[in-house]
Amino acid sequence: MVLAGQNPASEVYVRNKIKTVGGAGCRAELFRLDGSATLDEALALVGRLNRDEGIDGILVQSPLPDGMGADAEERVFDAIDPAKDVDGFHPYNVGLLVQKRPALVACTPLGCIELLEREGIPMKGKHAVVIGRSDIVGKPMAMLLLHRDATVTVCHSRTVDLPSVARTADILVAAIGRPAFVTREFVKPGATVVDVGINTLTSKADVERIFPEGSRKRAVFAEKGSVLIGDVHPDVEAVAGAITPVPGGVGPLTVAMVLRNTVAAAELRALGKAGM
Ligand code: NAD
Repeated sequence: MVLAGQNPASEVYVRNKIKTVGGAGCRAELFRLDGSATLDEALALVGRLNRDEGIDGILVQSPLPDGMGADAEERVFDAIDPAKDVDGFHPYNVGLLVQKRPALVACTPLGCIELLEREGIPMKGKHAVVIGRSDIVGKPMAMLLLHRDATVTVCHSRTVDLPSVARTADILVAAIGRPAFVTREFVKPGATVVDVGINTLTSKADVERIFPEGSRKRAVFAEKGSVLIGDVHPDVEAVAGAITPVPGGVGPLTVAMVLRNTVAAAELRALGKAGM
């Protein structure tokens, strides 16, 4: 894992991944670059990790420091050996996913599919609506659903009358990054709702607007001064057929898929089947 700079959220993500990966019996190592590191230094580090035979998977934590330049993330992610790209972000791996011959697939959408499959939620012939079109969640999510024979609609910030479109979904995936954005009017009764969003509420007014009096989330806020919430409003629970919680839903599955990808990368490399 490569961590550049001092972003507090990144510190938490990386610590969690190291704990989980280490706990599962993999060797997890953190390589730090300070906030003033240059793009060339980041590229040199990735090059060194690419060549290190003892390393099967490389994760570079986003965001990279602003000082590295606007295209730093693209340059650094593109520099990772696709055979070690356990985040599944490399254009080579994205291309394989589009052609339905994936090796290493983005962990968050992969985790969502794992959740749906393990819960026995049918996807074949169902209408799936994905809200969000990012390269790391929305787009690969749409591809994975398509490959399971769902009919897929991808929505985004310019979609006209989003609630009406969302309401046609049998499976609704919210990957927007806006707290409690998906309200009851977005959800067909009985639909399966996958909440990818992870947002932190720090305003008492927001917490009181969203969560009813006496709720556990209000108690958490009173104790900690902040509370985690997804992109889906808590009221949706009453209409959805099934719904993932935040925290404790898609997040842990994402980390589990990092592990799965790491094992897959190790096996593919050992068999000489990985890479371009
Ligand atoms: P992003 O900002 O890259 O993309 C957000 C997408 O939402 C964009 O495609 C945009 O078109 C869409 N959007 C924004 N405003 C909208 C609006 N008003 N109406 C409709 N669509 C709108 O974010 P991302 O990286 O895809 O992440 C989305 C959320 O998922 C964030 O909350 C992030 O923290 C969370 N996330 C969680 C995990 C996890 O492990 N659970 C992993 C990655 C991201």
